[in-house]
Amino acid sequence: MKEVAIIGGGASGLMAACFAAGKGTRVTVFEKQKKTGRKLLATGNGRCNITNSSIDPDRYHGRNPRFVQNIFSRFGLDDTIAFFESIGIPLIEESAGKMFPASRQASSVQQVLEYEALKRGVDIQLHRKIDRIIPGEKGIRLITAGREELVVNAAVLAMGSCASPQLGAAKDVYDIPRALGHTVHEPFPSIVPLDIPLRTLHRLEGIKWDCRIQARVDRVTGAESLGELLFTKYGISGPAALDVSRAANSAVCAGKRCEIIIDLFPERKEEELRELMESLFSDGTKTLAFALRGILKERMPEVLAAIAGIDPFRKTATISKEERQKFVAVMKHMVLEPGKPRSFNDAVVAAGGVEVSEVNPATMESRLAEGMYLTGELLDIDGDSGGFNLQFAWSTGAIAGMALSR
Ligand SMILES: Cc1cc2nc3c(=O)[nH]c(=O)nc-3n(C[C@H](O)[C@H](O)[C@H](O)COP(=O)(O)OP(=O)(O)OC[C@H]3O[C@@H](n4cnc5c(N)ncnc54)[C@H](O)[C@@H]3O)c2cc1C
Repeated sequence: MKEVAIIGGGASGLMAACFAAGKGTRVTVFEKQKKTGRKLLATGNGRCNITNSSIDPDRYHGRNPRFVQNIFSRFGLDDTIAFFESIGIPLIEESAGKMFPASRQASSVQQVLEYEALKRGVDIQLHRKIDRIIPGEKGIRLITAGREELVVNAAVLAMGSCASPQLGAAKDVYDIPRALGHTVHEPFPSIVPLDIPLRTLHRLEGIKWDCRIQARVDRVTGAESLGELLFTKYGISGPAALDVSRAANSAVCAGKRCEIIIDLFPERKEEELRELMESLFSDGTKTLAFALRGILKERMPEVLAAIAGIDPFRKTATISKEERQKFVAVMKHMVLEPGKPRSFNDAVVAAGGVEVSEVNPATMESRLAEGMYLTGELLDIDGDSGGFNLQFAWSTGAIAGMALSR
């Protein structure tokens, strides 16, 4: 009987357990927390955005994103949908291809996956942290946090990343692969709000606005999004900001020049906006701030004027052509400098992790340590928001599990 240990009872670990369990294997999941799938329960605001109907390798990032293509050719979207349907979780599709369990509750995914693993004979041990792993000729030795020693034939590292420590994630997840000789690329927060040090902007806190946003790295567009932006007391959040956060943080961490460019009126050309402003300024006795109240939310005219270097309480008749042009430029092309990445507490995923060229995509087995398998967010692959990260966890977990059941 092959003894298989799965370290981490999260998305990829439970998936690996379901697929590894079989006649010739005895599978044990070691989960350090008091329950499995703690992060899974928080996904999609408690609704679990399981996957996306447009799974495209372009939506994944890392030093070797082609790895993803290899993974999805072995266990892709259709396999995932079929698997969840087979265990009693049909999926439904919402906007932007996002797929959810029909229950629209993450807890149903965690409960049914755990049930399925147990039904297939998997032993789930909670409150059991694995501290060290020592491969040897007589098997793989696992050392628990309580200094207990166990020997297995194969182990799956499904420990996730360091994003969202409030859900139990920790930076020490990288210690075990590092000790096994794997290269770990320094993780950084992704799908995370952005700090913008410009204090004037913080006065917009609480305002939501549909816009086009770009992260420009060394003057080249690194990421772009069209959608809702939320101004906060420290900078920007909301789906549009989260979409470009990876490109921005990656540039900032690499010491590259990064600019966040916001177009508050993506549906209007600059010329149209200039003409609109002229008509709004036709009553020269209004202040600049008041003249723009019909097209901007409260506080916005004052803040945008401050960024353009214009007193918002001047009468429109006194605003020169150059100043009008400057104001239009701020509305159409506001250039902001992002600060250092915010902490992992605010991040949905961690970019970076274990170098994927050191892992065989056909089996998820380490190319450096025989009998060791690596899955999920621990690897140097991160996806966009919209179900892409869980899809990578399901696929890599299933591939490792299938390889172990053979
Ligand atoms: C708030 C939030 C919302 C999200 N929403 C979505 C979404 O809707 N769609 C989407 O695609 N992605 C979403 N994600 C990302 C997604 O949850 C992760 O990418 C995915 O869970 C990664 O799976 P994993 O198996 O690699 O790690 P995890 O699911 O994090 O599981 C790792 C497990 O390993 C355990 N562990 C760690 N170290 C040890 C150890 N030494 N010994 C024993 N156990 C250990 C941990 O306690 C944890 O349970 C979200 C993330 C967050 C934080």
